[in-house]
Amino acid sequence: MKTFVVLMGAPGAGKGTQAKRLESLLGLPQVATGDLFRANLKNQTELGKLARTYMDKGELVPNEVTIAMVRERLSQPDCESGAILDGFPRTLAQAEALDELLMEFGAKIAVVPFIHVNQDVLVGRLAKRAEIEGRADDNEDTIRTRMQVYESETAPLLNYYDNRGLLVKVNGEQSIDEVSADLTAVIRQEMIS
Ligand code: AMP
Repeated sequence: MKTFVVLMGAPGAGKGTQAKRLESLLGLPQVATGDLFRANLKNQTELGKLARTYMDKGELVPNEVTIAMVRERLSQPDCESGAILDGFPRTLAQAEALDELLMEFGAKIAVVPFIHVNQDVLVGRLAKRAEIEGRADDNEDTIRTRMQVYESETAPLLNYYDNRGLLVKVNGEQSIDEVSADLTAVIRQEMIS
């Protein structure tokens, strides 16, 4: 059975941290569109150059480009048993494209854990990450734009998945270990059922 998990949560909710942990805990690869774009940026590919113009402003890279990149990544052999999707889908068009893509692979989404963290906690975390990691898109203006984009484009997906009975809310304000334990339990439940 293939297990495709879509990890949802606002910027700063801990998706990246948790997806990396789940990769070793569950043996499923993390597919993070932000990381894929950053790797392209580092290697100065055409895709990287294009993505940069959006990332620097905290805006979304166009759907067609993002979907094509995900299609390519999910077609690789290590995703044969599934993947933990982190940062994708972020728009309704991407969510629909993912459904189609998985159907082509004879798979579907197993579960959509939503890491919930209150807004004031999120802003504090992102500011701290800016200091530690020095990510170019963690400055104040970009953070604000990313939050707005999340609210308008991505948050509606919570309803989209909830209506299909796939959304499971996890308290993201617990310790990192506790969040991992909750997520692992939620996903394992789907892997055995
Ligand atoms: P992240 O590392 O997930 O916070 O993503 C960093 C940036 O990459 C975002 O602010 C967007 O500019 C771009 N990005 C990542 N994932 C997507 C996506 N699914 N759709 C469009 N743009 C994305």
